[in-house]
Amino acid sequence: MKVLIIEDNQDIVASICDYLEGLGYTIDTASDGMTGLNLAITKDYDVVILDLGLPDIDGITLCRRIRQDAQQLVPILMLTARDSIENKLEGFESGADDYLVKPFSLKELTARIKILSERIRRKPASQLQIGDLLLDVDAHKAYRAGKRIDLNPTLFRLLMFLMQNPHRAIPREELKYVVWQDNPPESDALRTHFYNLRQIVDKPFDRPLLHTVRGFGFKLTDKNAED
Ligand code: CA
Repeated sequence: MKVLIIEDNQDIVASICDYLEGLGYTIDTASDGMTGLNLAITKDYDVVILDLGLPDIDGITLCRRIRQDAQQLVPILMLTARDSIENKLEGFESGADDYLVKPFSLKELTARIKILSERIRRKPASQLQIGDLLLDVDAHKAYRAGKRIDLNPTLFRLLMFLMQNPHRAIPREELKYVVWQDNPPESDALRTHFYNLRQIVDKPFDRPLLHTVRGFGFKLTDKNAED
């Protein structure tokens, strides 16, 4: 189990670390928000423990940033002061999955961590990944190289189908059916959609994943063999 603790109180960090490492957990720590955010979006954790009151960014904002920028859906457990019930509610709106009021018992903390990591693990595979392109089907979000990319519903559907069928040249007709079912438009709207998809998914990045298969259709792959 890999846990990230973002907390500026070194006593709390030390006691959580001692306890969880004793249980065989791997722990990374950050004592400020920016370091925490950086770790949360670049590394994979089973759970992030996030203190509400940090020196540089408040926990609510940080929670939102992690939700926005992280590649994976990581569960976030927020630590709050006893008197901040409103903050707790705000914490949930910002995307925290659970909270714990200080002071808390380490046993309780461990129980919550286990529940959160299980909850995520039991979810059906709702994420598709090809190279550095990631599609979160449930959340309807797409990411490339850790950056959120915005797609309209048609482009999302098109990309999802391509990611479900990677490395395969897909005929135009099949893609038309994915987008329009039995009522495709007269014009070559598919080409336009594909062009737009490329502008968003490939253009800002150094390596193209979307390829035109001349006279046939399109292909999504992170392998090098070009047509
Ligand atoms: Ca604090």
